[in-house]
Amino acid sequence: MEYESVTHTVTDRRLGRLPSGSEITVPVHRYVGGAGPTVYVQAAQHGIELNGPAALRRLHERLVEAELAGTVATVPVANPRAFDNRSYLTPAEFDARNPNLNRVWPGDEDGTLQERLAARLWPLAAGADAAVDLHTGTADMLEHVRFREGETGARRLATAFDTGYLLADGDLDSDDSDEDGPAGTAADGDDEETFRGTFRAAASREGIPAVTAELSNSRTVDRAAVGTGLEGVLNVLRERDLLRGEPTATAEPTVLRKGDGSVEATESGLFELRSGLAVGDTVEAGERLGTVYDPATFERRETVSAAESGVVYSLAREAVVVAGERVAATAEPV
Ligand SMILES: [Zn+2]
Repeated sequence: MEYESVTHTVTDRRLGRLPSGSEITVPVHRYVGGAGPTVYVQAAQHGIELNGPAALRRLHERLVEAELAGTVATVPVANPRAFDNRSYLTPAEFDARNPNLNRVWPGDEDGTLQERLAARLWPLAAGADAAVDLHTGTADMLEHVRFREGETGARRLATAFDTGYLLADGDLDSDDSDEDGPAGTAADGDDEETFRGTFRAAASREGIPAVTAELSNSRTVDRAAVGTGLEGVLNVLRERDLLRGEPTATAEPTVLRKGDGSVEATESGLFELRSGLAVGDTVEAGERLGTVYDPATFERRETVSAAESGVVYSLAREAVVVAGERVAATAEPV
């Protein structure tokens, strides 16, 4: 390893063209030190997830002063259209078929706008030795880092990132994804589209260790979450020996395995969470999580119960639920 002072460059990367003729470009920051591995970090695939870009600004301040063995490439705002629109998804006017950027990786040069955008960004990840995708969940999601079970490189990155909780998911080709929150949270949640096209699944297929960090609190710059994001990325760089020193992770993380702990409402109505229930709580299978009421007749429509025993890692924030929407998710401690 050769640690050398960083040379920072920022270049505009062209991702596509809008109907008006204006170009979609994103700044790509490169921090180049001595010989060593390359780590790619991106944020704001979803337009309301602001703690990632805020963490990368602080990372910038640290890296320009640092000695590095290797290269760090960052894209603070991977999805400028959703960011400008202050929306989780990309506005349908730009891509009605693929509104969620995190479902189209590794993209398609001849595809829809979103697929083209991903295809232009993808070489940054494909040329890296490790990748971090910064997201934020709702306020009612446990801060955690996701990795694919059985991938030791990704697990080491996730452990180094140190959010206290790791979430191992097994089958990245399944049709189930709840990254960022329960599906029922209208603004902040993911829908039930295929998980196959997530950034992390695409990286995994290429053999690139990758993790998804779910920081706290969408829609706001939360200083604690930003600090977690900054320290997390610095620790990933230490783990990969781009920065001197060992990751500063203090305690052993709690590792959760994502199973069949998704809880959907079977009735529509107004969902009231059980008093005192919060993310991080351990619940038993069948334990009551909340109640769905008819808001106009006051009739009790459904008692919502945990599908499995485990730790509650996300809860619905939006209280209006439509039958079939996810209102909570639990995962088993490993
Ligand atoms: Zn996200």
